[in-house]
Amino acid sequence: MNTLADFPAIPAGWAYLDTAATSQKPQAVIDAITRGYDRDYATVHRGVYQRSADMTLAYEAARRRVASFIGGREDEIVFVRGATEGINLVAQNWAGTQLEAGDRILLSTLEHHSNIVPWQMVTERVGAAIDVVPLTADHRIDLDAMAAMLTERHKLVALAHVSNVLGSVLDARRAADLAHGVGAKILIDGCQAVPRMAVDVAALDCDFYVFSGHKLYGPTGIGVLWGRAELLDAMPPYQGGGSMIDRVTFAKTTYAPAPTRFEAGTPHIVGVLGLHAAIDYVEGIGLDRIHAHETALVAEARARLSQINSVTLFGPEDSAGIVSFAIEGVHPHDIGTILDEDRVAIRAGHHCAQPLMDALGVPATARASFGVYNTLADVEALARGIERVTRIFG
Ligand code: PMP
Repeated sequence: MNTLADFPAIPAGWAYLDTAATSQKPQAVIDAITRGYDRDYATVHRGVYQRSADMTLAYEAARRRVASFIGGREDEIVFVRGATEGINLVAQNWAGTQLEAGDRILLSTLEHHSNIVPWQMVTERVGAAIDVVPLTADHRIDLDAMAAMLTERHKLVALAHVSNVLGSVLDARRAADLAHGVGAKILIDGCQAVPRMAVDVAALDCDFYVFSGHKLYGPTGIGVLWGRAELLDAMPPYQGGGSMIDRVTFAKTTYAPAPTRFEAGTPHIVGVLGLHAAIDYVEGIGLDRIHAHETALVAEARARLSQINSVTLFGPEDSAGIVSFAIEGVHPHDIGTILDEDRVAIRAGHHCAQPLMDALGVPATARASFGVYNTLADVEALARGIERVTRIFG
């Protein structure tokens, strides 16, 4: 795969290995954003003039594109700021109205803080409780343990499709079947999955699916909440304001149907256009090809790093696009700083997954994550950099 030329912000010789935090943008996405502002710009859903009508068509075409990308229906796609907002929306509007004192939510040890804290906020409010599914020895969400933990009191399960730290891939269909077996709904956090594997919410049989545009080669500030139509229809509005209403009087306001009801205010119009271009970009390459490409890079990275004695690798062998590791006696921040001198950009820290760090028994990890633009030369640069770190720290 040779896509490096599509990414103007990646200079020659720079190994960008932080795609799990945010991906670089292809020229096609940058062009879509630029055109959105310098040629086509106008508001949506309100204008009677042609430019606004055209922009509204483009905005709604993007919604259809997202629906076809993940296998949902157009009226099931809610544009949000990102995965964080999507999860908060479901936590406040679905869990906040459906859960009662004594109900339970099931999460896993490896969740990102944005798939933990919103549930804590709502369970504290309604008097519900959270249970945590442990990991297997090879750092996957332990679905056998989950099967044993689920009870009729569990109303919701919320799990990452791909771990942002370990790269472990969830068998989301099995998780959905287990959740549905006790009558619970399931939300899948697809942030790290949509950029690296084909996703079909119908085949997964989940109830909610969220992701962020900026990890999918699109802009920041735009993301997607997909929810089953009957669940969205039954949910109250999230924020009040313009665009989300049917009729406003001081006596009573009635609301627009979903998804409009959840999109109060002027939306991130150009962000939506950029997201459309990003989906066209990844589907133009093919998610299966991207998955195979990143799997090969991960396999090579794991093989190279495992030859270095002081390196501990986390996550399963078949992790998707992401490798976390530690070097004995070296703080991950020092690894990141030294690698930066070698023009290798990795992430060091807790990756917004402090409970996972606790479970792994480390304060932080170093993480290399791959995207379509990475090559074996980047893995080579990473491995050489790590060897230099081990020499420096003797
Ligand atoms: N979930 C996962 C698995 C993530 O990797 C991230 C981003 N690191 C999020 C949720 C939150 O995404 P955002 O910050 O774009 O809302």
